[in-house]
Amino acid sequence: MDTQLQFSKISQDLENYKIAIDAHSIVAVTDARGVITHVNKKFCDISKYSAKELIGSTHQIINSGCHPKHFFKQMWKTIAQGEIWQGEICNRNKEGELYWVDTTIVPLKDEQGVLRQYFSIRTDISQLKNSEDHARYMALHDELTGLPNRRYMQDRIRHVLAKSRENDTHSAMIMLDLDNFKNINDTLGHEQGDRLLRIVALCLRSCVPQPNSIIRLGGDEFLVILSDLNADLELAKQTVLKVANKITATLNKPFYLNKQQIHTGASSGIFVFKNSDLPEKELLKYADMALYQAKGNGKNCVCVFDPAMEQRILAKAALMTDLRRALQDDEFLLHYQKIVNAEEQTIGYEALVRWLHPEKGLVMPSAFINDVEKSGMIHELGKKVLTMACQQLYEWSKLPEYAQLSISVNISIEQFNKPDFDELIIRLINTFEVNPSLLRLELTESMFYADMHGSIAKMNKLIQRGLKFSMDDFGTGYSSLNYLKILPLSQLKIDRSFVENIVENKRDFAIVQTILNLALILELDVVAEGVETEEQFQLLKDSGCTAFQGYYFGRPQLTV
Ligand code: C2E
Ligand code: MG
Ligand code: MG
Repeated sequence: MDTQLQFSKISQDLENYKIAIDAHSIVAVTDARGVITHVNKKFCDISKYSAKELIGSTHQIINSGCHPKHFFKQMWKTIAQGEIWQGEICNRNKEGELYWVDTTIVPLKDEQGVLRQYFSIRTDISQLKNSEDHARYMALHDELTGLPNRRYMQDRIRHVLAKSRENDTHSAMIMLDLDNFKNINDTLGHEQGDRLLRIVALCLRSCVPQPNSIIRLGGDEFLVILSDLNADLELAKQTVLKVANKITATLNKPFYLNKQQIHTGASSGIFVFKNSDLPEKELLKYADMALYQAKGNGKNCVCVFDPAMEQRILAKAALMTDLRRALQDDEFLLHYQKIVNAEEQTIGYEALVRWLHPEKGLVMPSAFINDVEKSGMIHELGKKVLTMACQQLYEWSKLPEYAQLSISVNISIEQFNKPDFDELIIRLINTFEVNPSLLRLELTESMFYADMHGSIAKMNKLIQRGLKFSMDDFGTGYSSLNYLKILPLSQLKIDRSFVENIVENKRDFAIVQTILNLALILELDVVAEGVETEEQFQLLKDSGCTAFQGYYFGRPQLTV
């Protein structure tokens, strides 16, 4: 082949390569300083810039700002040494949209070995990147709320610890748990429960200042990580408490689900730390302990971890074991406290549970009832209490002077919400041939926060069988007038906290008078609880109260 022919063959081959490369790739050529000297059509198409706009500029024109400075520094270092660089770059087109390109940059030298040009070939990998990003996002986020999940948390904690060390500042965790979630989920169904969790996530987003992390740990548990707080512990604590209190206040407001007003509070545990070498699991453990303490303190509480908590938690665990044993060994019994009329004649009794501990002696319910409720043991204990009360009514039914006396039994929310609660009561009434009108069930206001209509249906079923319901500790919950209007109650029990200072405190007296008036209009009986003195009794009587309970008439006793 002659030289002319050879040359034309090579030219043809090169032209073919160019066509093939142009068809497949985004191509640009720059001079040694990075100034663009050539772009192909694909480059213009993807960057939305014309060749005229690109030629003479540098690649800075399509810089997305997504890569850290050292990324390009490293790239330049490689190609300036005459080596090929390969990597994935995120660029920004003229319209501001991001796109990803898989890039190969080939440095081209002249015959003297001097770097003259850079030849870059790119392929569009945006689609692949987007699906990768999506998969990564899904792995690190909770599908329901869109919040980061537990896996994300580990990364976040590491980051926070590093930052805290670097800046010598405090960081904190707020662990949150909804107070009423299980109840809502059980009564309104999972769909509504899911909706509530989404609402809670939104509330958290509105309460936590940026740039901090809110993580859904699972179920109704959330974690807020606050970083770069003050170097001073007390000031850091104040900031965290402010955020936690804001969350508590927001979540304590009623929400609407399916046009129903529901109420879920939240308890929070806080752990503040600095330069911690503790593994992330330990950090979480301390926040969890504080949360446990907060829940133990009652609903809607915020607790900051302190070292004494660990001891208390161990003691609680021991109490749980002891309670389980006590249930098996039948160590619970009932004391009865009389309820009298204005003439001080006994009209009934309230059954109050006691734990006869083999070493500690008589233990009052305040020391164990909350834990029994939370652990689920309340179902067994509650059944025992109801059985003992029905047995007592049966025995009294045989004695003329006791046959008309009622027994009021305290019912926990967990017991009442159990689907077969009404069946249990009916079974016991039948077994002990109890006159149902003598068995009063004492409920508390919190029972109606979640599913008032379902609760009413359950109450009505038992009312049809002749049972009566009282609202215990009235005035200490939300005391919504709406409840009073629609709940089929027959009695209100004014909480002891109002009766206590009725003689000295005008406000308490006014509240009691209002409750009495309200009850009169709604045709409800009223029992004033915690009457301790003659003056209290007189004042209540003069205000129209007709039933009374308290140490003034008699303490709870084993035998009546
Ligand atoms: P409660 O139902 O409001 O019961 C009244 C509480 O006030 C009783 O405390 C009673 O001993 C106390 N009390 C009565 N009169 C006076 C008084 O004049 N002065 C003072 N200072 N106190 C008075 P107790 O027996 O310690 O029970 C506390 C709470 O434990 C009860 O409050 C009730 O909520 C709960 N409880 C008691 N027994 C049971 C039970 O069998 N099941 C459930 N779920 N809860 C129970
Ligand atoms: Mg009671
Ligand atoms: Mg009470």
